[in-house]
Amino acid sequence: MSETTETIFSKIIRREIPANIVYEDDLALAFTDVNPQAPVHILVIPKKPIVKLTDAESQDQALLGHLLLTAKHVAAAAGLKNGYRVVINTDADGGQSVYHLHLHILGGRPMAWPPG
Ligand code: AMP
Repeated sequence: MSETTETIFSKIIRREIPANIVYEDDLALAFTDVNPQAPVHILVIPKKPIVKLTDAESQDQALLGHLLLTAKHVAAAAGLKNGYRVVINTDADGGQSVYHLHLHILGGRPMAWPPG
């Protein structure tokens, strides 16, 4: 998929397409994944359209920390008491399909390792 700053996630942020939004603040949004890979599968995204982790810069340091803490809070709110996995697929070899940085929160079952 080509890399653009305008993705389906931008449309979700602007409420132009529906999503099951579970958390929002000034910097971040979290919504359930439309194609869940686990009983709980939530995406956490920055409202700033960073294309991929590779493109994050030092000025994004606080935002990146905020996304991880948001993932922690969203996972707790989802009841993931036994743990969970946080994944950032990055670029072609990382399996990224939507080019707007996002954290996957996967939980509700034991996760295997190594991933595919
Ligand atoms: P990745 O492959 O890491 O780029 O992950 C992109 C994720 O976005 C996939 O797990 C998709 O199922 C999910 N996704 C794509 N479109 C939507 C949408 N409209 N609402 C919720 N999740 C979506």
